Amino acid sequence: MKLGTQMTPESPGRGTRFAMIASGSDGNAGVLQSGETLLLIDAGVSYPRLFAGLARLGLTPQQISAILLTHEHGDHVCGLAALLRRHHCPVATTKETRHGLGRRGELRSKAAEWIELRPGQPSWVGGLEVLAFRTAHDARGPVGYRIEAKDAGVTYATDTGHATPELLEAVAGCALLALESNHCPDLLRRGPYPRRLKERVASDRGHLANQQAAEVLGAAVSAQLRAVLALHISKINNHPDLAVRALSTGLAAAQNEARCLAVGRRGSDWIDC
Ligand SMILES: [Zn+2]
Ligand SMILES: [Zn+2]
Repeated sequence: MKLGTQMTPESPGRGTRFAMIASGSDGNAGVLQSGETLLLIDAGVSYPRLFAGLARLGLTPQQISAILLTHEHGDHVCGLAALLRRHHCPVATTKETRHGLGRRGELRSKAAEWIELRPGQPSWVGGLEVLAFRTAHDARGPVGYRIEAKDAGVTYATDTGHATPELLEAVAGCALLALESNHCPDLLRRGPYPRRLKERVASDRGHLANQQAAEVLGAAVSAQLRAVLALHISKINNHPDLAVRALSTGLAAAQNEARCLAVGRRGSDWIDC
């Protein structure tokens, strides 16, 4: 599949699969492969980590069709410049996030193409239909993504202080949900963070708590839902088991048997959608 914003659906062939290269406060990057299209979602790891993570999944950076960015925080974009220096490919994000990257030097000129995404309006990126939807986070124009891949909707939602109505709409009927489950409020409250940082994390524009993530599942659960990935799990204010337990309880309440797994700094294997 040729790169860019061509208005044709992706070609038939391989099915859809998703994996995380890394997730957490020290770096976030995911990949969605569908047919000949490979989308990188966030580029928040160093180039060596990205290269190694892609290699682990049987991929190379040159296969990336386009990059989607959720917001400009370093744990989501710190590897972008190094990647673009080696592989010119389109970068799709909101105008505000692109603007936010300006501080990171000459980044803007290095992308082969910038695709401006407007929240709520579907766009074609690398041959797939991509919907950016607003999240609630202390960044300029943060979004999550719903991607319509071959026979499967994939929703990626991280770094959000609460589940926005747009987020709840975007998770409906998805086959795979990659969802922030950042902290346990009790551990955050009792933990070592300074008071202001605790308030930021727990705020309406901070990060999603386990129970909030579990509540999102009510909107996501459908016959199509096959897997839920718990993302951005705090090493200090949470534990992977707590996140999975909360999400599994949400799934069980909805009588859904989707697989649920926690993803940390080492990423995940491929998950078929
Ligand atoms: Zn952030
Ligand atoms: Zn983050």
